[in-house]
Amino acid sequence: MAWSTLEKFSQAEIAGIGMTSQRTRNRMVERLQQQGIQDSRVLDVMGSVPRHLFMDEAIATRAYEDVALPIGGGQTISQPFIVARMTEILLGTGSVNKVLEVGTGSGYQAAVLSRLVKKVYTCERILTLLRKAEERFERLAFQNIRTRYSDGSWGWPEQGPFDAIMVTAAPESIPDALTCQLAEGGRLVCPVGRREGEQLLTVVTRTEDTFNVETGESVRFVPFLSGKS
Ligand code: SAH
Repeated sequence: MAWSTLEKFSQAEIAGIGMTSQRTRNRMVERLQQQGIQDSRVLDVMGSVPRHLFMDEAIATRAYEDVALPIGGGQTISQPFIVARMTEILLGTGSVNKVLEVGTGSGYQAAVLSRLVKKVYTCERILTLLRKAEERFERLAFQNIRTRYSDGSWGWPEQGPFDAIMVTAAPESIPDALTCQLAEGGRLVCPVGRREGEQLLTVVTRTEDTFNVETGESVRFVPFLSGKS
């Protein structure tokens, strides 16, 4: 794809103004801290990544509210607290170089991860969303994110094993292919559950010969679907 012809976002667009300004981002970070996010690396990155550029301009003034917002195709960009929480859990294992994200959506979560780890691999089953996210990565010069148009049930075997895997849509159960692509000591974080209101944030840690599963807080995610669209 002729990405190099895409115009980069200007510094003014990245900085934002009014409801998308640095002051507003700082207020979001303060709120995240009050809500219990402790990892200063996560807080710093969320204070700098321009979340308002990962959605349509028409709703960008709401970018820093603690809500999930529509991104097209019936999908949503997760609320800042959930992005922060899942990122914090993911980094908790120590050294994380290579991460797989399933469900690129707007690209915001991948962008946050890309500032915290060496390399992010992210896949999405809806082509129009993936293309928009790729355009954002290019216009914001995020260079350590690789994308793929695929059903993430199969993970990304050619690139595995991964130090960490994050799933940002909710399956009824975690696909085996994903846990199998975890490196030893690696961690997978995924919302699991049939319906909204029944999903629990689940963390799987791979040890030498077992998978340790822990379930945590109740969350709301769009469903994990199979096939491409
Ligand atoms: N991480 C995204 C959240 C987007 S919502 C963000 O920061 O914006 C979840 C996304 O997961 C949707 O875009 C949906 O299309 C995608 N998804 C659902 N099931 C999937 C699957 N099996 N493989 C890949 N992507 C999937």
